[in-house]
Amino acid sequence: MKDPKKPFITKQHESLRRFFKVIGPILVLIGIFLMVKGVAPLFSPMSFGPEPNTFYLAFIGMPITFVGFFLSGLGYGGKLAKYQAREYTPVAKDSFNYFTKESQEGIRNLSTAMREGNETGYTCPNCGATHQPDSKYCTQCGKPLYKSCTSCNETNTRDAIYCDNCGSSL
Ligand SMILES: [Zn+2]
Ligand SMILES: [Zn+2]
Repeated sequence: MKDPKKPFITKQHESLRRFFKVIGPILVLIGIFLMVKGVAPLFSPMSFGPEPNTFYLAFIGMPITFVGFFLSGLGYGGKLAKYQAREYTPVAKDSFNYFTKESQEGIRNLSTAMREGNETGYTCPNCGATHQPDSKYCTQCGKPLYKSCTSCNETNTRDAIYCDNCGSSL
Protein backbone atom coordinates (compact mmCIF):
# COMPACT_ATOMS: atom_id res chain seq x y z
CA MET A 1 0.00 0.00 0.00
CA LYS A 2 1.15 3.49 -0.86
CA ASP A 3 1.37 6.12 1.81
CA PRO A 4 -1.79 8.21 1.19
CA LYS A 5 -0.10 11.32 2.58
CA LYS A 6 2.69 11.08 0.02
CA PRO A 7 1.88 13.35 -2.96
CA PHE A 8 1.12 11.59 -6.21
CA ILE A 9 3.23 14.00 -8.21
CA THR A 10 6.66 15.24 -7.33
CA LYS A 11 7.46 18.93 -7.12
CA GLN A 12 9.40 18.75 -10.39
CA HIS A 13 6.42 17.33 -12.27
CA GLU A 14 4.20 19.91 -10.62
CA SER A 15 6.23 22.83 -11.98
CA LEU A 16 6.51 21.13 -15.38
CA ARG A 17 2.73 20.86 -15.49
CA ARG A 18 2.38 24.52 -14.53
CA PHE A 19 4.77 25.35 -17.37
CA PHE A 20 2.69 23.27 -19.79
CA LYS A 21 -0.50 24.95 -18.60
CA VAL A 22 0.98 28.35 -19.45
CA ILE A 23 2.95 27.50 -22.59
CA GLY A 24 0.25 25.18 -24.03
CA PRO A 25 -2.48 27.82 -24.56
CA ILE A 26 0.15 30.36 -25.67
CA LEU A 27 1.37 27.97 -28.37
CA VAL A 28 -2.24 27.28 -29.39
CA LEU A 29 -2.87 31.03 -29.78
CA ILE A 30 0.37 31.58 -31.70
CA GLY A 31 -0.39 28.62 -33.94
CA ILE A 32 -3.94 29.75 -34.68
CA PHE A 33 -2.71 33.30 -35.29
CA LEU A 34 -0.08 32.04 -37.76
CA MET A 35 -2.59 29.78 -39.51
CA VAL A 36 -5.14 32.58 -39.85
CA LYS A 37 -2.44 34.97 -41.05
CA GLY A 38 -1.17 32.39 -43.51
CA VAL A 39 -4.56 31.36 -44.87
CA ALA A 40 -6.38 34.72 -44.68
CA PRO A 41 -5.06 36.17 -47.96
CA LEU A 42 -6.55 33.19 -49.82
CA PHE A 43 -10.04 34.21 -48.74
CA SER A 44 -9.49 37.92 -49.11
CA PRO A 45 -11.47 39.37 -52.02
CA MET A 46 -8.89 42.16 -52.17
CA SER A 47 -6.12 39.78 -53.11
CA PHE A 48 -5.46 40.32 -56.79
CA GLY A 49 -2.27 39.74 -58.56
CA PRO A 50 0.89 38.40 -56.94
CA GLU A 51 0.49 38.24 -53.18
CA PRO A 52 3.25 37.94 -50.63
CA ASN A 53 3.38 34.22 -49.98
CA THR A 54 2.21 33.94 -46.39
CA PHE A 55 0.86 30.43 -46.79
CA TYR A 56 3.99 28.93 -45.19
CA LEU A 57 2.84 30.59 -41.93
CA ALA A 58 -0.12 28.21 -41.89
CA PHE A 59 2.27 25.26 -42.15
CA ILE A 60 4.25 26.60 -39.22
CA GLY A 61 1.10 27.46 -37.26
CA MET A 62 -0.44 24.01 -37.58
CA PRO A 63 2.21 21.98 -35.71
CA ILE A 64 2.56 24.76 -33.15
CA THR A 65 -1.19 24.55 -32.49
CA PHE A 66 -0.99 20.78 -32.13
CA VAL A 67 1.97 21.01 -29.79
CA GLY A 68 0.09 23.68 -27.83
CA PHE A 69 -2.98 21.45 -27.48
CA PHE A 70 -0.78 18.53 -26.51
CA LEU A 71 1.03 20.50 -23.81
CA SER A 72 -2.26 21.96 -22.55
CA GLY A 73 -3.58 18.41 -22.35
CA LEU A 74 -0.56 17.37 -20.31
CA GLY A 75 -0.88 20.35 -18.00
CA TYR A 76 -4.63 20.31 -17.44
CA GLY A 77 -4.98 16.57 -17.91
CA GLY A 78 -2.48 16.04 -15.13
CA LYS A 79 -4.38 18.44 -12.91
CA LEU A 80 -7.62 16.65 -13.69
CA ALA A 81 -6.08 13.26 -12.93
CA LYS A 82 -4.71 14.59 -9.67
CA TYR A 83 -8.05 16.13 -8.78
CA GLN A 84 -9.82 12.87 -9.49
CA ALA A 85 -7.26 10.94 -7.48
CA ARG A 86 -7.67 13.29 -4.51
CA GLU A 87 -11.45 13.56 -4.70
CA TYR A 88 -12.41 10.03 -5.56
CA THR A 89 -9.79 7.90 -3.86
CA PRO A 90 -11.03 8.58 -0.30
CA VAL A 91 -14.62 7.98 -1.42
CA ALA A 92 -13.65 4.72 -3.07
CA LYS A 93 -11.65 3.75 0.00
CA ASP A 94 -14.54 4.59 2.30
CA SER A 95 -17.06 2.66 0.26
CA PHE A 96 -14.65 -0.25 0.10
CA ASN A 97 -14.18 -0.16 3.87
CA TYR A 98 -17.93 0.16 4.34
CA PHE A 99 -18.53 -2.73 1.99
CA THR A 100 -15.89 -4.85 3.71
CA LYS A 101 -17.27 -4.01 7.15
CA GLU A 102 -20.81 -4.80 6.05
CA SER A 103 -19.75 -8.09 4.45
CA GLN A 104 -17.83 -9.08 7.56
CA GLU A 105 -20.86 -8.36 9.70
CA GLY A 106 -23.09 -10.18 7.23
CA ILE A 107 -20.84 -13.23 7.25
CA ARG A 108 -20.63 -13.11 11.03
CA ASN A 109 -24.42 -12.90 11.36
CA LEU A 110 -24.84 -15.70 8.86
CA SER A 111 -22.38 -17.97 10.66
CA THR A 112 -24.03 -17.13 13.99
CA ALA A 113 -27.42 -18.00 12.54
CA MET A 114 -26.04 -21.22 11.12
CA ARG A 115 -24.42 -22.14 14.41
CA GLU A 116 -27.61 -21.38 16.32
CA GLY A 117 -29.61 -23.35 13.78
CA ASN A 118 -27.34 -26.34 14.28
CA GLU A 119 -27.51 -25.99 18.04
CA THR A 120 -31.28 -25.65 18.34
CA GLY A 121 -31.98 -28.59 16.06
CA TYR A 122 -35.46 -29.88 16.84
CA THR A 123 -38.83 -28.38 17.56
CA CYS A 124 -41.36 -30.15 19.71
CA PRO A 125 -44.23 -31.33 17.47
CA ASN A 126 -46.60 -30.79 20.39
CA CYS A 127 -45.71 -27.33 21.75
CA GLY A 128 -43.10 -25.95 19.31
CA ALA A 129 -40.32 -25.53 21.87
CA THR A 130 -36.79 -25.97 20.51
CA HIS A 131 -34.50 -28.67 21.80
CA GLN A 132 -31.07 -30.14 21.44
CA PRO A 133 -31.02 -32.79 18.70
CA ASP A 134 -30.31 -35.49 21.27
CA SER A 135 -33.14 -34.52 23.68
CA LYS A 136 -35.51 -37.41 24.33
CA TYR A 137 -38.35 -35.51 25.93
CA CYS A 138 -39.68 -32.00 25.55
CA THR A 139 -38.60 -29.82 28.41
CA GLN A 140 -41.76 -27.72 28.07
CA CYS A 141 -44.54 -30.28 27.67
CA GLY A 142 -42.89 -33.59 28.52
CA LYS A 143 -43.86 -35.32 25.26
CA PRO A 144 -41.30 -37.73 23.76
CA LEU A 145 -39.12 -36.18 21.05
CA TYR A 146 -38.13 -39.51 19.55
CA LYS A 147 -39.81 -42.31 17.67
CA SER A 148 -39.82 -45.77 19.15
CA CYS A 149 -39.53 -48.53 16.60
CA THR A 150 -42.63 -50.74 16.67
CA SER A 151 -40.56 -53.77 15.63
CA CYS A 152 -37.42 -53.61 17.80
CA ASN A 153 -38.23 -50.82 20.21
CA GLU A 154 -35.11 -48.87 19.17
CA THR A 155 -35.17 -45.13 19.86
CA ASN A 156 -34.97 -43.12 16.62
CA THR A 157 -34.79 -39.40 16.01
CA ARG A 158 -38.10 -37.65 15.39
CA ASP A 159 -37.42 -37.06 11.66
CA ALA A 160 -36.35 -40.65 10.99
CA ILE A 161 -38.43 -42.45 8.39
CA TYR A 162 -36.91 -45.87 8.88
CA CYS A 163 -35.52 -47.43 12.02
CA ASP A 164 -31.75 -47.09 12.23
CA ASN A 165 -31.52 -50.52 13.87
CA CYS A 166 -33.83 -52.82 11.86
CA GLY A 167 -34.89 -50.72 8.88
CA SER A 168 -38.62 -50.96 9.57
CA SER A 169 -40.82 -48.12 8.43
CA LEU A 170 -41.58 -45.79 11.31
ZN1 LIG B 1 -43.15 -29.85 23.78
ZN1 LIG C 1 -36.38 -51.08 14.63
